[in-house]
Amino acid sequence: MFDKILLQRTDLPGSEKIDVYLAHGGYQALSKALLQHKREELIEMVKKSGLRGRGGAGFPAGVKWGFMPRDSDVVKYVCVNTDEGEPGTFKDRELVEKDPHQVIEGTIIASYAVGAQRAFVYIRGEFFTGVKRWVKAIADAYERGFLGKNILDSGFSLDLSVHRGAGAYICGEETALIESLEGKRGEPRLKPPYPAQRGLFGKPTLVHNVETLCNVPHIVLRGPEWYASIGTPKSTGPKIFCVSGHVNRPGNYELPLGTALREIIYEHAGGVKGGRAIKAVIPGGSSTPMLRPDQLDTPMDFESLAAAGSMLGTGAIIVIAEGTCMVDVARRTARFFAHESCGRCTPCRIGTQHLHETLERIEAGSGRPGDIELLHSLCDGIQGNTFCPLGDAAVAPIRSSLDLFRDEYEAHIAQHRCPLAR
Ligand code: SF4
Repeated sequence: MFDKILLQRTDLPGSEKIDVYLAHGGYQALSKALLQHKREELIEMVKKSGLRGRGGAGFPAGVKWGFMPRDSDVVKYVCVNTDEGEPGTFKDRELVEKDPHQVIEGTIIASYAVGAQRAFVYIRGEFFTGVKRWVKAIADAYERGFLGKNILDSGFSLDLSVHRGAGAYICGEETALIESLEGKRGEPRLKPPYPAQRGLFGKPTLVHNVETLCNVPHIVLRGPEWYASIGTPKSTGPKIFCVSGHVNRPGNYELPLGTALREIIYEHAGGVKGGRAIKAVIPGGSSTPMLRPDQLDTPMDFESLAAAGSMLGTGAIIVIAEGTCMVDVARRTARFFAHESCGRCTPCRIGTQHLHETLERIEAGSGRPGDIELLHSLCDGIQGNTFCPLGDAAVAPIRSSLDLFRDEYEAHIAQHRCPLAR
């Protein structure tokens, strides 16, 4: 039985309140960080812990902190990415709604470590409760002296405020988030320069997602060696897996990285509804390639999933049971990405629409000979030819669906109907 770390307080009554947070060890890590450690020591600590970003890319957090310029007279910013838009992902929302002070504490420590005196929360507009919780928690943190001038008499000052986005998937990408935060249309920027060189308002900026920042207080309090002892050698620490789809107990499950997919689905999420067999699993959010039932023993970590032909992504596991039409799953996924394309580059803007239209036609029984080849060719046209990763993200699930379930596509086209429709 794994003792929860990031979700340890979320079941407590009033878990979002500052008094509950303080009564359960809250802000002790901040005091230790500000009063006992130099900035460089904290960066080294996070590097040594092996913490990798939990937003999807898995980039080492300490290395990212190390990219920020050291000069103390340079204005720097920290952005808390609360845009969480990957379908199937709902962990950051739980962390913000039920334990916002844990995120704030991680944000203050990260800001201190990189020398930023201004931080912003960027939150998707639909998260009404999350916005309220952020605003209240920030106000309480100011009142108790954890934010503002001269925090805990350390000489370090930080201001933190909330900015609501309009709800666009692409604004979860750090440069699009920065554009949106600056009041512009949320479109990605060309990289390099990376945000650590030239980010918000042209200044060096550290962007981290909520779950990543929640790990920081625990690393500071309990040490990087303790943290690195959880998980696998290259994928360290706890991970919140969001389990949805055809399972008996959908929800967030915090477990060490490297826990087998089968254990997460059958032991923690209660197995498949109605005792049906599994047809496929999306392991890391809708943009990751599907796994087959014979891959259920794959450990859920960055390396093992890459070796299995997929990705850890956000750790959002979507279970698809036997009896589900895979063309329909692909159609819904394609609709999402076509809708969320920001429109900046042609292969993504046009290609995702064309993918969606073709899949709609096949699912509706109007598929034509050559449509499978057309889908492949559309994927070829998008993959590797777009400005940002959304293009590749849109293609990965469609390609894996075509590879794993080609017979279903052929049956739809040959029978002019969905063979699974009643
Ligand atoms: Fe926009 Fe799509 Fe191009 Fe990314 S790949 S810049 S989302 S159009």
